[in-house]
Amino acid sequence: MTDVSPWDLLQRRNYIANKEVAKKVSKERLKICKGCENFNHLAKTCGVCHCVMPFKVKLAGASCPLPIPKWKAVTNDEEMQ
Ligand code: SF4
Repeated sequence: MTDVSPWDLLQRRNYIANKEVAKKVSKERLKICKGCENFNHLAKTCGVCHCVMPFKVKLAGASCPLPIPKWKAVTNDEEMQ
């Protein structure tokens, strides 16, 4: 999976299964987004992919859409790639 769609939010298998890893990864991803020039702090959306980031960061297969991504997809239950 190279990126995600809003429909992926509806399926549990698309989330990072390990709760501790999920918390760590999503927190780190959102921290990166909050420091990004493309992040809309009011809407909490990415100005490039237009996703609502507090949701997108929870999906294992999600990644930053920039040509040089600021964060990448993770293999479920694995460390960040
Ligand atoms: S997904 Fe990437 S481009 Fe979008 S706000 Fe986050 S770091 Fe910035």
